[in-house]
Amino acid sequence: MTEKWYETKPYTTAWSTEITSIKEQEDYVLVTLRETAFYPEGGGQPSDYGTINGMNVLDVFEQDDEVYHKLQHAPDQKEATCQIDWARRLDHMQHHTGQHLLSAVCIELYDAHTVSFHLGTDTVTIDLAVPSLSDEQLAHIEQRVNECVYQNKEIRTYYVTKENVHTIPLRKLPDVGDHIRIVEISGIDYSACCGTHVSRTGEIGIIKLLKTEKQRGNTRLHFKCGLRALMDYQLAHTTLSTLAGKFSTGRHQLIERIEKLEQEQKQLQKEIDLLQTEKAAYVANELIANSNKGIVTYVSDDQPTKALQLVIKSITEKGDYIVLFASMIENKIILAHNGFSSVHCGQLFKEQLAAFNGKGGGNANQAQAGFSTKEEMENFLSFLQRTIN
Ligand SMILES: [Zn+2]
Repeated sequence: MTEKWYETKPYTTAWSTEITSIKEQEDYVLVTLRETAFYPEGGGQPSDYGTINGMNVLDVFEQDDEVYHKLQHAPDQKEATCQIDWARRLDHMQHHTGQHLLSAVCIELYDAHTVSFHLGTDTVTIDLAVPSLSDEQLAHIEQRVNECVYQNKEIRTYYVTKENVHTIPLRKLPDVGDHIRIVEISGIDYSACCGTHVSRTGEIGIIKLLKTEKQRGNTRLHFKCGLRALMDYQLAHTTLSTLAGKFSTGRHQLIERIEKLEQEQKQLQKEIDLLQTEKAAYVANELIANSNKGIVTYVSDDQPTKALQLVIKSITEKGDYIVLFASMIENKIILAHNGFSSVHCGQLFKEQLAAFNGKGGGNANQAQAGFSTKEEMENFLSFLQRTIN
């Protein structure tokens, strides 16, 4: 059986040992070692990566108390030179130990018990059995958990029997075996756990709480520890400094500046709306002056129908006109009036559009149609001009 150095010597990064078995599978092989420091997935912690005789370890898992290392090909010698992907492992150790500490502090301060733990490449979370946590409570938890980091408490690992497990003040009673592995953060937390942990809380580095979300009656708390938290801070710092540079101000004045900008933009939008309404009224007057028998026709070469709506609104408000607008850039037609006419725009479009290969519809006072070609649109436009006249 493999000697599990990840339990007894979690800081092992490189070692030489013997290959004790090779199981050939369809397109990979499973290798066991006399001693391994490769952590197999378990307890919320993903498996380690690294190399055996220069070949990438694709996965590590435990089955019937044996640790299997998945490789692409069988090694051609009995001796194995092993190397752990230490950056990945340290990240896991910082977050796993950080999780123990965070879970303990959540109980200490708010009796919020951890029901699950997720350690992924992008997100690390614990689910807490409380409906919510306020900003003040989160700030308090963050303050306390980081104090525990700076106290640099020792973390010890030892085994107890099933008979003696009641002597340990565990957060959660384990349901496995009679040789139980205890991870103790001196005076703060006792957990039954099979994962890898740092040896003092100081090695976790900063613990930053990021956000919470509701999760089936529980509260999911996102956090980052150590190097991941540092990288997050570096990114946040670069983003804020760049933004502050663009606004020629300090980071702490940014919110005020952005709120001011929002106000200015709202004011500008109001002015634009007013100018567009005035412009629409001007264009409406021009078109009405050139209208024929109460029909105001306008074919635009460069405006979409959306931009023409204000002019249509203005014309129909000014009096009893039939409005017939076309947009050449969209191949669209709008027919509208203020309700004075007996022409039901939507009905007319519904009955006639299929014959012109168009699609659209509307209500009694306004209808819109679109065509795949300019020719189809012009045919329908001519039809409407004939019909309405
Ligand atoms: Zn653990």
